[in-house]
Amino acid sequence: MKSIQVIKVGSLRDPNPEKRGKIKVVDIPEQQLGDEDVRIKVAYCAICGSDPHLVENIFGWEVPFGMGHELSGVITEVGPKATKKGLKVGDRVSGNFLKFCGTCYYCQNGQQQFCTHADESNNPGFSETIVWHESQVYKLPDDVSLKMGCLLEPTSIAVRAMDKADIKFGQRVAICGGGPIGLFTLQAVSLSGATDITLIEPIAERRDLARKFGASHVVDPADENVKAAAERITGGLGFDVVFDCSGSVKAVRDLPYITAKGGKLLYCAMYPNDYEMPLNLYKFCYYNEITISGLYVAPYAFPRALQILPRMRYDDFITKVFDLEDAEAAFEAQITGKWPKILIRCNKIEGE
Ligand SMILES: [Zn+2]
Ligand SMILES: [Zn+2]
Repeated sequence: MKSIQVIKVGSLRDPNPEKRGKIKVVDIPEQQLGDEDVRIKVAYCAICGSDPHLVENIFGWEVPFGMGHELSGVITEVGPKATKKGLKVGDRVSGNFLKFCGTCYYCQNGQQQFCTHADESNNPGFSETIVWHESQVYKLPDDVSLKMGCLLEPTSIAVRAMDKADIKFGQRVAICGGGPIGLFTLQAVSLSGATDITLIEPIAERRDLARKFGASHVVDPADENVKAAAERITGGLGFDVVFDCSGSVKAVRDLPYITAKGGKLLYCAMYPNDYEMPLNLYKFCYYNEITISGLYVAPYAFPRALQILPRMRYDDFITKVFDLEDAEAAFEAQITGKWPKILIRCNKIEGE
Protein backbone atom coordinates (compact mmCIF):
# COMPACT_ATOMS: atom_id res chain seq x y z
CA MET A 1 0.00 0.00 0.00
CA LYS A 2 1.00 3.63 -0.51
CA SER A 3 2.24 5.65 2.46
CA ILE A 4 4.07 8.93 3.03
CA GLN A 5 7.48 8.28 4.53
CA VAL A 6 10.28 10.57 5.64
CA ILE A 7 13.21 9.42 3.55
CA LYS A 8 15.67 12.15 4.53
CA VAL A 9 15.56 14.11 7.76
CA GLY A 10 16.19 17.86 7.83
CA SER A 11 14.28 21.11 7.80
CA LEU A 12 11.79 21.39 4.93
CA ARG A 13 12.76 25.08 4.82
CA ASP A 14 16.51 24.53 4.44
CA PRO A 15 17.66 26.66 1.47
CA ASN A 16 20.36 24.07 0.73
CA PRO A 17 18.64 21.23 -1.18
CA GLU A 18 21.38 18.83 -0.02
CA LYS A 19 20.38 19.36 3.61
CA ARG A 20 16.63 19.77 3.12
CA GLY A 21 14.33 17.09 4.58
CA LYS A 22 12.45 14.95 2.08
CA ILE A 23 9.22 13.01 2.19
CA LYS A 24 8.00 10.64 -0.48
CA VAL A 25 5.05 8.40 -1.23
CA VAL A 26 6.36 4.83 -1.17
CA ASP A 27 4.94 1.31 -1.15
CA ILE A 28 5.04 -0.37 2.25
CA PRO A 29 3.48 -3.65 3.38
CA GLU A 30 0.08 -3.44 5.11
CA GLN A 31 0.27 -3.95 8.86
CA GLN A 32 -0.79 -7.31 10.28
CA LEU A 33 -4.19 -7.43 11.93
CA GLY A 34 -4.03 -8.70 15.50
CA ASP A 35 -6.99 -10.39 17.18
CA GLU A 36 -8.03 -7.21 19.01
CA ASP A 37 -7.32 -4.85 16.08
CA VAL A 38 -9.35 -3.22 13.34
CA ARG A 39 -8.18 -2.24 9.88
CA ILE A 40 -9.24 1.18 8.66
CA LYS A 41 -9.32 2.42 5.08
CA VAL A 42 -8.06 5.96 5.68
CA ALA A 43 -10.21 8.71 4.14
CA TYR A 44 -8.43 11.84 5.37
CA CYS A 45 -5.32 12.45 7.42
CA ALA A 46 -4.62 16.07 8.39
CA ILE A 47 -1.15 17.57 8.52
CA CYS A 48 -0.37 18.57 12.10
CA GLY A 49 1.86 21.53 12.95
CA SER A 50 4.21 19.00 14.52
CA ASP A 51 4.65 16.92 11.33
CA PRO A 52 7.29 19.22 9.74
CA HIS A 53 9.16 18.99 13.09
CA LEU A 54 9.10 15.22 12.76
CA VAL A 55 10.73 15.58 9.34
CA GLU A 56 13.43 17.60 11.14
CA ASN A 57 13.64 14.49 13.34
CA ILE A 58 13.21 15.96 16.80
CA PHE A 59 12.87 12.43 18.21
CA GLY A 60 15.90 11.00 16.41
CA TRP A 61 13.99 8.22 14.61
CA GLU A 62 15.65 6.06 12.01
CA VAL A 63 14.74 6.78 8.37
CA PRO A 64 12.55 5.93 6.61
CA PHE A 65 9.64 6.45 8.98
CA GLY A 66 5.98 7.32 8.59
CA MET A 67 3.82 10.08 10.04
CA GLY A 68 0.18 11.11 10.34
CA HIS A 69 -1.93 10.97 13.49
CA GLU A 70 -5.10 12.98 12.72
CA LEU A 71 -7.19 10.66 10.62
CA SER A 72 -10.63 9.36 9.76
CA GLY A 73 -11.76 6.44 7.68
CA VAL A 74 -13.96 3.39 7.30
CA ILE A 75 -13.45 0.01 8.97
CA THR A 76 -12.68 -2.78 6.49
CA GLU A 77 -11.72 -5.60 8.85
CA VAL A 78 -12.40 -6.41 12.49
CA GLY A 79 -10.23 -8.85 14.46
CA PRO A 80 -12.06 -11.82 16.09
CA LYS A 81 -11.54 -10.39 19.61
CA ALA A 82 -12.16 -6.70 18.78
CA THR A 83 -15.66 -6.98 20.17
CA LYS A 84 -15.80 -4.65 23.20
CA LYS A 85 -17.05 -1.52 21.40
CA GLY A 86 -19.42 -3.06 18.86
CA LEU A 87 -17.33 -1.87 15.92
CA LYS A 88 -18.39 -3.21 12.50
CA VAL A 89 -17.07 -3.26 8.96
CA GLY A 90 -18.31 -0.08 7.26
CA ASP A 91 -18.29 2.06 10.43
CA ARG A 92 -16.99 5.60 9.95
CA VAL A 93 -14.33 6.14 12.61
CA SER A 94 -11.53 8.27 13.98
CA GLY A 95 -9.36 7.78 17.04
CA ASN A 96 -6.26 8.10 19.13
CA PHE A 97 -2.93 7.34 17.44
CA LEU A 98 -1.57 6.24 20.80
CA LYS A 99 -2.58 2.98 22.42
CA PHE A 100 -2.48 3.15 26.19
CA CYS A 101 -1.53 -0.28 27.54
CA GLY A 102 -3.67 -0.16 30.69
CA THR A 103 -1.09 -2.21 32.59
CA CYS A 104 1.97 -0.02 33.29
CA TYR A 105 2.42 2.11 36.41
CA TYR A 106 1.16 5.30 34.76
CA CYS A 107 -1.91 3.73 33.12
CA GLN A 108 -2.88 2.33 36.53
CA ASN A 109 -2.12 5.61 38.28
CA GLY A 110 -4.64 7.68 36.26
CA GLN A 111 -1.88 9.12 34.02
CA GLN A 112 -2.33 7.42 30.67
CA GLN A 113 -0.39 10.20 28.94
CA PHE A 114 2.83 8.83 30.44
CA CYS A 115 2.12 5.22 29.41
CA THR A 116 5.50 3.63 28.85
CA HIS A 117 4.17 1.55 25.92
CA ALA A 118 2.09 4.19 24.13
CA ASP A 119 4.39 4.51 21.13
CA GLU A 120 4.49 0.82 20.28
CA SER A 121 1.38 1.03 18.09
CA ASN A 122 2.03 4.41 16.48
CA ASN A 123 1.39 3.33 12.88
CA PRO A 124 1.61 5.92 10.05
CA GLY A 125 -1.72 7.61 9.27
CA PHE A 126 -0.69 9.09 5.91
CA SER A 127 -1.35 5.69 4.37
CA GLU A 128 -4.05 3.91 2.42
CA THR A 129 -4.87 1.75 5.44
CA ILE A 130 -3.96 1.66 9.11
CA VAL A 131 -4.32 -0.95 11.84
CA TRP A 132 -5.35 0.23 15.29
CA HIS A 133 -6.19 -1.60 18.47
CA GLU A 134 -9.93 -1.50 19.18
CA SER A 135 -9.29 0.71 22.22
CA GLN A 136 -7.92 3.47 19.95
CA VAL A 137 -10.97 3.60 17.67
CA TYR A 138 -14.09 5.75 18.07
CA LYS A 139 -17.19 5.65 15.87
CA LEU A 140 -18.02 9.08 14.46
CA PRO A 141 -21.46 10.61 15.04
CA ASP A 142 -23.68 10.53 11.91
CA ASP A 143 -23.64 14.32 11.57
CA VAL A 144 -19.84 14.50 11.48
CA SER A 145 -18.29 14.11 8.02
CA LEU A 146 -15.07 12.18 7.50
CA LYS A 147 -13.43 15.52 6.64
CA MET A 148 -14.33 16.90 10.04
CA GLY A 149 -13.85 13.55 11.75
CA CYS A 150 -10.11 13.54 11.10
CA LEU A 151 -9.91 16.49 13.49
CA LEU A 152 -10.97 14.40 16.51
CA GLU A 153 -7.38 14.12 17.77
CA PRO A 154 -6.61 17.88 17.76
CA THR A 155 -10.05 18.41 19.31
CA SER A 156 -9.01 16.08 22.13
CA ILE A 157 -6.07 18.43 22.80
CA ALA A 158 -8.50 21.33 23.21
CA VAL A 159 -10.57 19.18 25.63
CA ARG A 160 -7.45 18.41 27.64
CA ALA A 161 -6.45 22.10 27.68
CA MET A 162 -9.93 22.90 29.02
CA ASP A 163 -9.54 20.22 31.71
CA LYS A 164 -6.33 21.86 32.90
CA ALA A 165 -7.73 25.42 32.66
CA ASP A 166 -10.87 24.66 34.67
CA ILE A 167 -12.43 27.95 33.51
CA LYS A 168 -15.16 29.56 35.61
CA PHE A 169 -18.08 31.62 34.30
CA GLY A 170 -17.08 35.21 33.67
CA GLN A 171 -13.32 34.65 33.73
CA ARG A 172 -11.16 36.53 31.26
CA VAL A 173 -9.17 34.35 28.89
CA ALA A 174 -6.34 34.96 26.41
CA ILE A 175 -5.07 32.56 23.78
CA CYS A 176 -1.70 33.16 22.17
CA GLY A 177 -1.47 31.65 18.68
CA GLY A 178 -4.29 31.18 16.17
CA GLY A 179 -3.24 27.90 14.56
CA PRO A 180 -5.64 24.95 14.67
CA ILE A 181 -5.07 24.14 18.36
CA GLY A 182 -5.45 27.83 19.29
CA LEU A 183 -8.65 28.23 17.30
CA PHE A 184 -10.13 24.92 18.52
CA THR A 185 -9.33 25.93 22.09
CA LEU A 186 -10.90 29.32 21.43
CA GLN A 187 -14.15 27.65 20.33
CA ALA A 188 -14.12 25.45 23.42
CA VAL A 189 -13.45 28.46 25.65
CA SER A 190 -16.32 30.41 24.09
CA LEU A 191 -18.68 27.51 24.92
CA SER A 192 -17.54 27.71 28.54
CA GLY A 193 -18.97 31.05 29.60
CA ALA A 194 -15.66 32.89 29.71
CA THR A 195 -15.63 36.60 28.85
CA ASP A 196 -13.17 38.96 27.17
CA ILE A 197 -11.79 36.12 25.09
CA THR A 198 -8.69 37.50 23.41
CA LEU A 199 -6.64 35.96 20.61
CA ILE A 200 -3.04 37.10 20.08
CA GLU A 201 -1.95 36.28 16.53
CA PRO A 202 0.11 38.03 13.83
CA ILE A 203 -1.74 36.57 10.79
CA ALA A 204 -4.81 38.65 9.84
CA GLU A 205 -6.88 35.76 8.38
CA ARG A 206 -6.54 33.84 11.63
CA ARG A 207 -7.61 36.87 13.65
CA ASP A 208 -10.69 37.10 11.40
CA LEU A 209 -11.50 33.43 12.07
CA ALA A 210 -11.08 34.09 15.80
CA ARG A 211 -13.70 36.84 15.61
CA LYS A 212 -16.08 34.38 13.95
CA PHE A 213 -15.44 31.78 16.64
CA GLY A 214 -16.26 34.08 19.54
CA ALA A 215 -13.17 36.19 20.33
CA SER A 216 -14.20 39.55 21.71
CA HIS A 217 -10.71 40.99 21.18
CA VAL A 218 -7.90 40.22 18.79
CA VAL A 219 -4.36 41.50 19.17
CA ASP A 220 -1.74 41.70 16.43
CA PRO A 221 1.58 41.39 18.30
CA ALA A 222 3.39 42.96 15.34
CA ASP A 223 1.25 46.05 15.73
CA GLU A 224 0.63 46.41 19.48
CA ASN A 225 2.66 45.56 22.57
CA VAL A 226 1.00 42.49 24.07
CA LYS A 227 1.39 43.66 27.68
CA ALA A 228 -0.17 47.04 26.82
CA ALA A 229 -3.05 45.29 25.02
CA ALA A 230 -3.71 43.07 28.05
CA GLU A 231 -3.69 46.12 30.29
CA ARG A 232 -6.22 47.85 28.02
CA ILE A 233 -8.53 44.83 27.73
CA THR A 234 -8.52 43.73 31.38
CA GLY A 235 -8.24 47.14 33.06
CA GLY A 236 -4.81 46.19 34.38
CA LEU A 237 -5.95 42.97 36.10
CA GLY A 238 -4.57 40.51 33.55
CA PHE A 239 -6.25 37.38 32.19
CA ASP A 240 -7.45 34.71 34.61
CA VAL A 241 -6.40 31.99 32.19
CA VAL A 242 -3.78 32.26 29.46
CA PHE A 243 -3.16 29.51 26.91
CA ASP A 244 -0.07 29.44 24.73
CA CYS A 245 -0.92 27.60 21.54
CA SER A 246 1.78 29.29 19.47
CA GLY A 247 4.94 27.43 20.47
CA SER A 248 6.74 30.64 19.51
CA VAL A 249 9.75 31.40 21.71
CA LYS A 250 9.24 35.08 20.85
CA ALA A 251 5.70 35.05 22.20
CA VAL A 252 5.97 32.88 25.31
CA ARG A 253 8.04 35.25 27.47
CA ASP A 254 5.34 37.93 27.60
CA LEU A 255 2.67 35.58 28.88
CA PRO A 256 3.49 35.59 32.62
CA TYR A 257 3.09 39.38 32.47
CA ILE A 258 -0.46 39.21 31.08
CA THR A 259 -1.65 36.52 33.53
CA ALA A 260 -3.78 37.78 36.45
CA LYS A 261 -2.72 37.38 40.06
CA GLY A 262 -3.76 33.87 41.09
CA GLY A 263 -4.29 33.02 37.42
CA LYS A 264 -3.32 30.03 35.30
CA LEU A 265 -0.80 29.99 32.50
CA LEU A 266 -0.85 26.89 30.29
CA TYR A 267 1.82 26.19 27.71
CA CYS A 268 -0.10 23.94 25.31
CA ALA A 269 2.28 23.81 22.33
CA MET A 270 5.43 21.92 21.40
CA TYR A 271 8.65 23.87 22.08
CA PRO A 272 12.22 23.54 20.84
CA ASN A 273 13.71 20.91 23.14
CA ASP A 274 16.66 23.11 24.18
CA TYR A 275 14.75 26.35 24.78
CA GLU A 276 14.89 27.75 28.32
CA MET A 277 12.68 30.66 29.29
CA PRO A 278 13.71 33.16 31.99
CA LEU A 279 11.03 33.51 34.65
CA ASN A 280 11.00 35.92 37.57
CA LEU A 281 9.99 33.55 40.37
CA TYR A 282 9.62 36.34 42.93
CA LYS A 283 7.14 38.26 40.79
CA PHE A 284 5.14 35.50 39.15
CA CYS A 285 5.22 32.49 41.45
CA TYR A 286 5.71 34.08 44.87
CA TYR A 287 3.97 37.43 44.69
CA ASN A 288 1.39 36.78 41.91
CA GLU A 289 0.77 33.10 42.73
CA ILE A 290 0.47 32.10 39.10
CA THR A 291 -0.03 28.40 38.33
CA ILE A 292 2.09 27.41 35.33
CA SER A 293 1.60 24.11 33.57
CA GLY A 294 1.58 22.49 30.16
CA LEU A 295 0.29 19.43 28.41
CA TYR A 296 1.63 16.58 26.39
CA VAL A 297 -1.16 14.44 24.91
CA ALA A 298 -4.82 14.01 25.76
CA PRO A 299 -5.64 11.20 28.19
CA TYR A 300 -9.31 10.47 28.99
CA ALA A 301 -10.40 13.15 26.50
CA PHE A 302 -11.57 11.27 23.39
CA PRO A 303 -15.14 10.40 24.47
CA ARG A 304 -15.72 14.07 25.31
CA ALA A 305 -13.96 15.25 22.13
CA LEU A 306 -16.54 13.14 20.25
CA GLN A 307 -19.35 14.94 22.08
CA ILE A 308 -18.01 18.38 21.26
CA LEU A 309 -16.98 17.64 17.64
CA PRO A 310 -20.44 18.30 16.08
CA ARG A 311 -20.56 21.68 17.84
CA MET A 312 -17.23 22.88 16.49
CA ARG A 313 -17.03 25.01 13.34
CA TYR A 314 -14.31 23.38 11.31
CA ASP A 315 -15.50 24.09 7.77
CA ASP A 316 -13.62 27.38 7.64
CA PHE A 317 -10.40 25.62 8.53
CA ILE A 318 -10.27 22.95 5.92
CA THR A 319 -9.26 25.11 3.04
CA LYS A 320 -7.02 22.72 1.15
CA VAL A 321 -7.15 19.02 0.37
CA PHE A 322 -4.38 17.15 -1.47
CA ASP A 323 -4.41 13.58 -2.76
CA LEU A 324 -1.90 11.15 -1.24
CA GLU A 325 0.24 11.19 -4.42
CA ASP A 326 0.66 14.97 -4.02
CA ALA A 327 2.12 14.71 -0.52
CA GLU A 328 5.23 16.70 -1.33
CA ALA A 329 3.15 19.65 -2.58
CA ALA A 330 0.95 19.34 0.51
CA PHE A 331 3.94 19.67 2.85
CA GLU A 332 5.26 22.60 0.80
CA ALA A 333 1.88 24.28 1.26
CA GLN A 334 1.91 23.46 4.98
CA ILE A 335 5.19 25.25 5.69
CA THR A 336 3.99 28.46 4.01
CA GLY A 337 1.56 28.77 6.95
CA LYS A 338 -1.12 30.14 4.61
CA TRP A 339 -3.72 27.46 5.28
CA PRO A 340 -4.90 26.66 8.81
CA LYS A 341 -5.48 22.99 8.11
CA ILE A 342 -4.35 20.91 5.16
CA LEU A 343 -5.87 17.47 4.62
CA ILE A 344 -4.44 14.55 2.69
CA ARG A 345 -7.07 12.41 0.99
CA CYS A 346 -5.73 8.87 1.30
CA ASN A 347 -8.76 7.20 -0.37
CA LYS A 348 -11.86 8.53 -2.07
CA ILE A 349 -14.82 7.29 -0.06
CA GLU A 350 -18.20 7.35 -1.80
CA GLY A 351 -20.67 9.91 -0.49
CA GLU A 352 -18.01 11.97 1.36
ZN1 LIG B 1 -1.08 16.78 16.09
ZN1 LIG C 1 0.53 1.99 29.99
